[in-house]
Amino acid sequence: MDATPATERAPAAFIGHGNPMNALESNRFTEAWRSLGAQVPRPRAVLVVSAHWFINATAVTAMELPRTIHDFYGFPDELFAVEYPAPGSPELAAEVAEVAQPVWVGADVDSWGLDHGTWSVLTHVFPDADVPVVQLSIDATKQLGDHLELGRRLAPLRDAGVMIVGSGNVVHHLGRIDWSMPDDGFDWARRFDEAARGLMTRDPGRILELRDHADWSSAVPTTEHFIPLLYLAGLAEAAGEQVATLVDGCSMGSLSMISYGLGVDRPPTAPSAGVAPELPRDIPPGSTNL
Ligand code: ZN
Repeated sequence: MDATPATERAPAAFIGHGNPMNALESNRFTEAWRSLGAQVPRPRAVLVVSAHWFINATAVTAMELPRTIHDFYGFPDELFAVEYPAPGSPELAAEVAEVAQPVWVGADVDSWGLDHGTWSVLTHVFPDADVPVVQLSIDATKQLGDHLELGRRLAPLRDAGVMIVGSGNVVHHLGRIDWSMPDDGFDWARRFDEAARGLMTRDPGRILELRDHADWSSAVPTTEHFIPLLYLAGLAEAAGEQVATLVDGCSMGSLSMISYGLGVDRPPTAPSAGVAPELPRDIPPGSTNL
């Protein structure tokens, strides 16, 4: 009985965040994120599902002023100095708990905040940090299908003016990164990325068929960066809306930087814009918490 026209519905997106240095850089990925923020009507608030809040519970940040968390190692001091002072929204936190039922959602008032999965992209999408932000944790004890279902349940929030963002990477295998491929992906990474795109753009409710893909274990060695995509798939299915590719491409062989949008158009591309930044070479990628 949803009578909200799609044009009045707040947008949603999945953003491939990659290297946290993107917070400080300008390249074709960050330009696409900026274009996303510039083209959408200002939302009431943003709800972010970040790969980097992967805990044994479903929780939302419910504080008035969430802190900026620098949850990585081995990066320059200027990245640790980044602050994203967006206000929180205890009101939205309560609404999330309401629509998620029967899933229980804990209200975090003093533990988490905004991690780099959130601020490294929102610093481009909403550079003034003036839109309230709430994070939703990923419950590591749930099945992938549970996350897809929770994504569907969040759909009414878009009709209430809340933009929903998943921040992760469709392909994310830090143990296989290759510095000789700054702007390209291994064949297996590109195959998986394209298979995911086919499902997202044609039939997002079937996204979990990717588990049967021959390259699943290479592309998704752990699930935390993949799961945010399931929230956009669930939202797309619930709304019956077409998913658009906002920017695509791989970085360093084993990272997909593809981003998707709902209720937004692909921005004009700037071929001259640069590529995603390199990861630090002096510490093992598996130790950086990217
Ligand atoms: Zn990450």
